[in-house]
Amino acid sequence: MLKKNYHTHTYRCKHATGDVSDYCQTAIAEGLTVLGMSDHSALPDDRWPHIRMDLSELPDYCQAIDDARIQFPQLTILKGMECEFDQQYVSFYQEKLLGELQFDYLIGAVHFVPVDGEWIGAYGGLDNAARLIAYTKYFIDSMRSGLFTFMAHPDLFGNCYLNWDDNTISAARDIFEAAEVLKIPLEINGYGLRKPKISTPLGMRCMYPWPPFWELAAEYDIEVIVNSDAHHPGDITKNTQEAIEIGEKFLLNFANLNFLEIP
Ligand SMILES: [Zn+2]
Ligand SMILES: [Zn+2]
Repeated sequence: MLKKNYHTHTYRCKHATGDVSDYCQTAIAEGLTVLGMSDHSALPDDRWPHIRMDLSELPDYCQAIDDARIQFPQLTILKGMECEFDQQYVSFYQEKLLGELQFDYLIGAVHFVPVDGEWIGAYGGLDNAARLIAYTKYFIDSMRSGLFTFMAHPDLFGNCYLNWDDNTISAARDIFEAAEVLKIPLEINGYGLRKPKISTPLGMRCMYPWPPFWELAAEYDIEVIVNSDAHHPGDITKNTQEAIEIGEKFLLNFANLNFLEIP
């Protein structure tokens, strides 16, 4: 049973519901000891505003977490963000979020990939080998930034790359090698398990987590972390047992992020 969830959104990202206190109430009711808030990060240039909080909402997000820490002392509430890497945002993440605003951690996530000077959406846009290579390179660049405590849904490309083949194997191996060297845990994401299934030549399956990806992970000395990636207060532990079972099935090592709780 999941006791700690580090991946939680709020209404501010415009595709989730509820505020910090709503998630805290459900987390306590479901027996969690640690709740990490990690909404889609505000960005200094308000890029991709349709799926993330506006920069103007950042103080309010921090205040909602600070207030919840007083209101729910029985729960350890961590201040985090789910972030897209871009060299131009490094100082914002480093100095503003982790520095001035005392965020406890940042999650790295790749929802957009630079291809030939354009940003391609990872949902639907990674359906060929060249795009998959671009995703993998960008995912590894994100890891190398040193900003992120773990990386969200590394197998997100399964949402539109339909077959497990030499290209996915090579992408997965590159990601695992980097995760091993850089010692960054990879997330088995519960949200993918509750999204609509997709039709592939081999039948219906979840977009992600993609089992052959995690089977291959077992060959590497890496750690995994399970989160619900809750976008609604009622989803705070949803599908996490299934995600844990994927990790257990392939004998993967579960990361311990207790260091985040030391003030
Ligand atoms: Zn989201
Ligand atoms: Zn998320």
